[in-house]
Amino acid sequence: MNIHEYQAKQLLAKFGVAVPRGGVAYTPDEAAEVAKGLGGPVYVVKSQIHAGGRGAGRFTSDPDGKGGVRVVKSVDDVKTNAAAMLGHTLVTKQTGPAGKEVKRLYIEEGADIKRELYLGMLIDRASSRVTVMASTEGGMEIEEVAHDHPEKILKLAIDPVAGLQAHHARRVAFALGLEGKQVGACVKFVLAMYEAFIALDASIVEINPLVITGAGDVIALDAKMNFDDNALFRHKDVAELRDEDEEDPLEIEAGRHELNYVKLDGNIGCMVNGAGLAMATMDIIKLYGGEPANFLDVGGGATKERVTAAFKIILADKNVGGILVNIFGGIMRCDVIAEGVVAAAREVSLHVPLVVRLEGTNVDLGKKILAESGLPILSANNLADAAEKVVKAVKEAA
Ligand code: GDP
Ligand code: MN
Repeated sequence: MNIHEYQAKQLLAKFGVAVPRGGVAYTPDEAAEVAKGLGGPVYVVKSQIHAGGRGAGRFTSDPDGKGGVRVVKSVDDVKTNAAAMLGHTLVTKQTGPAGKEVKRLYIEEGADIKRELYLGMLIDRASSRVTVMASTEGGMEIEEVAHDHPEKILKLAIDPVAGLQAHHARRVAFALGLEGKQVGACVKFVLAMYEAFIALDASIVEINPLVITGAGDVIALDAKMNFDDNALFRHKDVAELRDEDEEDPLEIEAGRHELNYVKLDGNIGCMVNGAGLAMATMDIIKLYGGEPANFLDVGGGATKERVTAAFKIILADKNVGGILVNIFGGIMRCDVIAEGVVAAAREVSLHVPLVVRLEGTNVDLGKKILAESGLPILSANNLADAAEKVVKAVKEAA
């Protein structure tokens, strides 16, 4: 799960990470109120969307104008810029061409920036450890730095038992070229950030840029946090920060029915039980020249209700020109699945070709139910047959 920059800063501040003062605003008037409270002389008006690259982004309402992060010098300017950003669509490198509507702003005190650095922590799958990444190239995307100048990134894999120690934090400070009191400030920052990462079950904490101010302070000018969804049950306060406006509506609906759904760009909808089988199904669709419209794992104990919900979600995608149901009845029985498929197909008045491949417990009974339903369901004998049939049917129907 992702959260907004201002939420990440509020969480990190609780652990002692240094962040500028600021407040969230949903209207231009609220933005002006927050700015008055901050007192100036410099304010930063920041669009809150779940995507980076906001500073260099552009609004569709004003393509030649300023970006999604603006430094201004009066409360009136805060208000005018807030009005120009709220309710408007911001397109950045990370939003895709459609962009994201800005619905919240974060109004912050301006910082006296001397240097912009990079500091990130993430779970590295290769080493199975939380890995600290630090670079002097702040403000740039770390992927770019890694590609062009890998030598400019310090990477430290942290032992999960010992945790991040002061000596790790000092190595970060020296790699960033810090001196004098900046070193102590950086050590405190890195230790606090790691504590927050572990305590909140984060998967990513990225501070880009981390800045050194004219006074020698080390502060988070930007903050991004992602969390491990499987640990959210033990962080109710974090789970509450979820902003569904920023998520795909079909994926939200799928989550409500405990379906694992990821929308893709193809036209063949897939309904499968088990993540591995779902991957194999997508592969074989591609092998026969088709493109999957989604990944969908209905799980092991799919009920008729869940199968119906899955059908509705697949069909809500306008690109879907056919559906392949591929179910292996192990714990589940094929006759129950067949009843679910038939009921769902009736309820949603199915208008695209449907190919069903069942295998496992009670498969004959399942096939009989499909055949006797009177619905135009194409039955398949194995995975290859199913993929071939659905690709052909979708081409013919198009
Ligand atoms: P992003 O573009 O979505 O990553 O948003 P950031 O929060 O990183 O802001 C983009 C850039 O705006 C930063 O790299 C800074 O150069 C600039 N910026 C942000 N806050 C301030 C500030 O308080 N003062 C000044 N002068 N620049 C800022
Ligand atoms: Mn940034």
